Amino acid sequence: MEFSGVEGESEKLKAIFLPFITPSHLVPVVDIARIFAMHGVDVTIITTPENAAVFQSSVDRDASRGSSIRTHHVKLPHVPGLPEGVETINLSTSRDTASILFETLTKTLQTQFPQLFHQFKPDFIVSDMFYSWSVDAAAEFGIPRLIYVGGTYFSHCAMDSLERFEPHKKVDSEDQSFLIPGLPYNLQMTRSQIPERFKTPNSFSYLMKRVKESEKRSYGSLLKSFYAFEGPYKDHYREIMGTKIGNVGPISSWVNRDASDKSSRGHGKEVEEGWLSWLDSKQKGSVVYVCFGSMKNNFSGTQIAEIAHGLEDCGHDFIWVVGKIDEGQSKALVEEFEKRVEASKKGFLIWGWAPQLRILEHPAVGGVVTHCGMNTVIETVDAGLPMVTWPLFAEQFFNERLLVDVLKVAVEVGAKEWKTWGDFGNEIVGREKIAKAIDLLMGGGEECEEVRRRVKALSEEAKKAIQIGGSSYNSLKDVIQQMKTLKLQKLNPKVEEPVA
Ligand code: UDP
Repeated sequence: MEFSGVEGESEKLKAIFLPFITPSHLVPVVDIARIFAMHGVDVTIITTPENAAVFQSSVDRDASRGSSIRTHHVKLPHVPGLPEGVETINLSTSRDTASILFETLTKTLQTQFPQLFHQFKPDFIVSDMFYSWSVDAAAEFGIPRLIYVGGTYFSHCAMDSLERFEPHKKVDSEDQSFLIPGLPYNLQMTRSQIPERFKTPNSFSYLMKRVKESEKRSYGSLLKSFYAFEGPYKDHYREIMGTKIGNVGPISSWVNRDASDKSSRGHGKEVEEGWLSWLDSKQKGSVVYVCFGSMKNNFSGTQIAEIAHGLEDCGHDFIWVVGKIDEGQSKALVEEFEKRVEASKKGFLIWGWAPQLRILEHPAVGGVVTHCGMNTVIETVDAGLPMVTWPLFAEQFFNERLLVDVLKVAVEVGAKEWKTWGDFGNEIVGREKIAKAIDLLMGGGEECEEVRRRVKALSEEAKKAIQIGGSSYNSLKDVIQQMKTLKLQKLNPKVEEPVA
């Protein structure tokens, strides 16, 4: 790992980072900010105090190790409908509050941008995809904007094809499958698995249209992928966008090197370690880790009961990140379940935030049940673990196809219904399907061994990508070099244009 300190303060490349306020965007964008700082860029991360608290300890640790990195707080104004102290969009945030918060934050950042620009004098900005306004703000001040894009290239290529060819409008029913054309792979999906916005335009369709337009006008895009994971789709995506594209993944292991970094990531404080002694008592590769991302527990009581039974019936030891369950029947059921599996030593439940990176690297963990959120997918592949896929919302059904059909590193639980986050939908995945998929993954049969071999090979590639000379390493270095050249060019117009 490289640290700053070679260049004089005046020549140092300066950047400001604008992360979004959902955990699954905040966590990787902060990691990306940290890797830029570790490679000599002077970095200021701009966010609200509540969001900064989630990663401040990591930033402080990096600064004490020599990185030039800091956080700058922006305060949100009092606005009717926005409860005091609510600064994050997660499952506890109602839809109305989320939209007021988004609007308030956007206005605040946009209004303060000129002052932030004069205060920090950035040479470039890295903005989350949801701040589409920042492409114009950067242009106004004559600096390049890099956009952080969540999701896989694969999913963005598939969504672009849906917009372009509308194959889902040519089938008669929700469960009829159709081909998504124009991709390097013949991707088949059903109408019920694609996001609602492709069927009926809604406010999210318009938001995503603005995101895409702003991406096309950006200097370049950063995704936390790596070339061996989905190289042909990266190339396809570059053609769609017509801009420069940089891979910076797997970012989580590149940046979070020690136990403190890993434990506090996404949470701000270290998590109590009961899970560690429980895992230490288990045999190598015997435990399945079950987690549905930072928006976890997007399930009805009936579905929660089926998960509990499925886990009890699957015949394998498990950690289940339950998250937060409000009072009521489901909570009583899960508490009862917890007592039983604790007594039999079959399972361990985590009720809040799990230290996911540490759990994934524990030798006792042998597989993962995931909702296919992009962060978890990359972290799991990086850890060399096969998956049971159970997509729920966002672009997760596309990610499932990449994992199951293209890379063949996962088995599917058989979910069929795309849901809006925060909405339970109608589908119930039954206990038999859950237990069967886990047993297929963990049971040691030939199919499962093949899957394991493939994901281990991919994990090796992930590790190579971030080493000196690896594809993501070179990609990061290229982006930094291009930003330096643009800065020099501004100071001295005779300097040549950077090449991608
Ligand atoms: N995460 C974690 N502990 C939890 C839940 C999530 O550390 O209990 C982290 C996980 O490692 C990942 C991110 O939060 O980096 C979740 O992002 P993902 O894309 O997987 O899912 P989303 O939150 O978007 O549904």
